Amino acid sequence: MAGSEFEIIRRYFSPFGTKRDWLAVGIGDDAAVITPPADRQLLVSIDTLNAGIHFPQHTLPIDIGYKALAVNLSDIASMGGEPQWFTLAISLPSSDDNWLTAFCDGIAQLVDKYDLTLIGGDTTRGPLSITIQIAGHVPTGQALLRSGATVGDDIYVTGQLGDAATGLLVSAGKLQTDTDSQKAFLHALNRPSPRVATGLGLRNIANACIDISDGLAADLGHILDASHVGAEIVNDAIPISGNLRQLNLSDEQLQQRVLFGGDDYELCFTASTDYRSEIEQLSVSLQLPITRIGSIIKEPGLFYLQHGKFQPLPIKGYDHFA
Ligand code: ADP
Ligand code: MG
Repeated sequence: MAGSEFEIIRRYFSPFGTKRDWLAVGIGDDAAVITPPADRQLLVSIDTLNAGIHFPQHTLPIDIGYKALAVNLSDIASMGGEPQWFTLAISLPSSDDNWLTAFCDGIAQLVDKYDLTLIGGDTTRGPLSITIQIAGHVPTGQALLRSGATVGDDIYVTGQLGDAATGLLVSAGKLQTDTDSQKAFLHALNRPSPRVATGLGLRNIANACIDISDGLAADLGHILDASHVGAEIVNDAIPISGNLRQLNLSDEQLQQRVLFGGDDYELCFTASTDYRSEIEQLSVSLQLPITRIGSIIKEPGLFYLQHGKFQPLPIKGYDHFA
């Protein structure tokens, strides 16, 4: 037993509430008091993870803690922001020390890596659900939006796509493959790397940017809608891992996995062709593949080059209420 609501907060969550110059009051009062820097804009985002919907019920608490923060960091990354603080609203079925310790270990990995501070939250009893709100800073006017894609821009993605969706199949016991690949797919699902450094590097380069949470087709689709443009992407250019290639999926299965599979948390962005060498340098300095997969066109819609011809692709991703 981890004790009462207030003991849980004091023991598990307050230690993440480290001091900052701009934080007049953190955890402990009715609201936090923040003095934002004068030359920065505040980026604010929130994401909920519900057990059984956003992660399988049997997911390890360390993975749940890690991912709850990772998906929020990914939203700050895609805006080109520097993450600063977060709030945590958690609903717990019971007060369980082992569970809370492991959950906080997962959170701690990213708090330490990105030097974040926890400024408040809410702790309640109920079905397992975690909501994190995150805030970051960006120099005024420099946030990377979905709406800036321009006809002629190159389209890029970071990392590799499709492994997280494959991890979901592994987690459900629906995919038998060698142990090492299974581990890698599960890692992609449970431990996505938020691309914060990439977002910062793209501030003066990208015209539009989004993080891929619902599949490339849907998320690139959001850029196209917001920017009133279309896109052509090339099937063979979409980066996939050796592990995924090794599964020898049919074209249709692979397309499903990389275009419509979710949870990759890579960045998709567009940039003028003038920046090709800068983007190559960024990729080298970050030791992260950044792959050109197509270009922005005037005609609305998403077109996919496969077997030598462009075909329109439906822009659909995961919809909680569909
Ligand atoms: P109130 O009743 O005024 O809403 P609470 O009793 O819910 O306040 O919380 C007490 C303090 O602990 C507040 O400062 C709140 O932000 C903080 N807090 C509660 N739960 C968490 C949590 N999970 N993580 C961080 N801070 C929390
Ligand atoms: Mg409260």
